[in-house]
Amino acid sequence: MNQDGRHTAVASVNTPTAESNALATVQPTPTIADTATPTNTPTPTQTPTPTNTPTITPTSTPSITPNPAWTATPSPTAPPLPTPVDSISTTLSIPVLMYHYISIPPEGADEYRTDLSVTPDNFRAQMQYLADNGFTPIDFYTLSRVITNHEALPPQPVILTFDDGYIDIYQTAYPILQEFGFIGTFFIPTEFIDSNRAGYMTWPMIEEMAAAGHRFEPHSRTHPDLRNRDNDYLIWEILGPQETLAAHIGYTPRYFAYPSGRYDDAVVAMMQHLDFWGAVTTAGGDQLGFENRYVWPRLRIRYDTPLEEFADVVYLRWNE
Ligand SMILES: [Zn+2]
Repeated sequence: MNQDGRHTAVASVNTPTAESNALATVQPTPTIADTATPTNTPTPTQTPTPTNTPTITPTSTPSITPNPAWTATPSPTAPPLPTPVDSISTTLSIPVLMYHYISIPPEGADEYRTDLSVTPDNFRAQMQYLADNGFTPIDFYTLSRVITNHEALPPQPVILTFDDGYIDIYQTAYPILQEFGFIGTFFIPTEFIDSNRAGYMTWPMIEEMAAAGHRFEPHSRTHPDLRNRDNDYLIWEILGPQETLAAHIGYTPRYFAYPSGRYDDAVVAMMQHLDFWGAVTTAGGDQLGFENRYVWPRLRIRYDTPLEEFADVVYLRWNE
């Protein structure tokens, strides 16, 4: 963990040419480039009834034109998932930090509650470290454009995520992020906000933070285990909070965090069906690409993560 080693790691992130060499693993993705849209199209059961087809003039080769309402893209403000340009996508090594509470654990807190907490002093020191060392917090929308369209990545990117929508995020994390000009991504179980549950943010708080440029993405409706559920249940727990958030923040959020990191094939299929652009787990890792967009890993920042260890995490020496 010497200073030289640290700067070597930085240089590979910072140098534009290194992005396409050392950092970025270029992977051919022949099967994905042209196949992203079918999930948006209506089901065949909605084809026009025979009464609409021309039966009198067979020479006109009646190619049936579907009702535009069925085939139109969802809306101008909801573009489809960015897909790799020229069948090439990029996989990046990038730290996605995972936080929950930013507060001192309450008296008598158990080990789980404590482990989910980062004290305000430690959080401030961590943000200061990012600022002092040239890191640039970005959101997942930027990440998607980079890995699919090869847009330029800002220097030393990092993504700051906060799960569950606790009130201390608004009270403590938000002002610190504003102070440093950092963007955060907040995963919200919307039912807890709808019901004004004690200890959670309110819609006016979320709207204020969203207006300041922060991102709010669904974290299910009620934070259940999403595995082994039927489609109706998944729609209620995934589409529901996506639409609720959209109503409050003014655009359709495109990313999802699996509650407690639990998902199965049906959950991932629902992500694709509902046009999510990516989803995060709680598994540790730093490889984010198009292929694994619904199982992106994150790096947990713990109560007892000292600043030296935080530095190892953001410089991706977390597994050394
Ligand atoms: Zn959660």
